[in-house]
Amino acid sequence: MGSTPFVMAVVNQKGGVGKTTSAVNLAACLAASERPTLLIDMDPQANASSAYGIVKAERQVYDALIDEVPLTHCAYETELETLHVVPAGRDLVGAEIELVGKEAREHQLARSIHATGEAYELILIDCPPSLGLLTLNALTAADSVLIPLQCEYYALEGLANLVETVDLVRGQLNPRLSVQGIFLTMADQRNNLAKQVEAEVRGHFGEKVYRTRIPRNVRLSEAPSHGQPILLYDIHSKGAIAYVKLADELLSQLDMREAPRKPPILPILNDASRREPEGRPSETAPLPERV
Ligand code: ATP
Ligand code: MG
Repeated sequence: MGSTPFVMAVVNQKGGVGKTTSAVNLAACLAASERPTLLIDMDPQANASSAYGIVKAERQVYDALIDEVPLTHCAYETELETLHVVPAGRDLVGAEIELVGKEAREHQLARSIHATGEAYELILIDCPPSLGLLTLNALTAADSVLIPLQCEYYALEGLANLVETVDLVRGQLNPRLSVQGIFLTMADQRNNLAKQVEAEVRGHFGEKVYRTRIPRNVRLSEAPSHGQPILLYDIHSKGAIAYVKLADELLSQLDMREAPRKPPILPILNDASRREPEGRPSETAPLPERV
């Protein structure tokens, strides 16, 4: 790993496949490995933000994309010391339109992330269910993509389109971009069609498909309304155990399974934490200290 953060976009243009649930919970599990981690919500639905109890945040990813406010000034603390969240909001719908007129419009998020220097070791981006300019910004900023896949009839077709898009972005905007891995969400082992689709996905993508499947688990769908990742909401649930295992597979793959190289030093944020959504990050929030 270099000294800049390793950036992964959680992406699938199909709606409701578990992108946000996975981004929210993987971010928590990765942060639990003591690595300074940032979760960026790039979806105007802002579900990843509210899953951490952040609603109507004063500073949002919009400000970083459009007004070039440093990303660290838009980051909020969470209950996990090593995890920060840059929230989204409805403004982001407008950002998609405003970005069109901007120079290097696909590179705005990459620029913002680059400016965070060594503040974070891992960054996860939750993408909206489309392949518009917001997702393009995420793909341009990312080192790799994580693809949640629900084993349904059209899953493979959607996956083929997505891999094509990744190839296109690699060719035109971001030569680093690769597929980090594919994982199965809301998996039901008793369903024959699901088994068949899984066999096809594994046959086609081989090692790129993680061994861990995320089962359907009601605790995972309850946790966001408590503003907590599953790790804090119910660590003994099947959903929590699955996300811990998936994060472990991912860290092994990134060769980051061992304890981090140095104690985490996160940017110092202001007091506008998740508990006080109406609080505002101060204009003068210090930039992260270089480590
Ligand atoms: P969108 O495309 O709208 O952004 P998404 O791909 O981010 O959706 P999620 O929001 O994570 O998908 O999940 C869709 C719904 O399914 C949510 O209500 C979520 O709580 C639920 N869900 C996701 N994963 C699981 C799971 N493993 N078990 C049970 N419910 C789940
Ligand atoms: Mg989502």
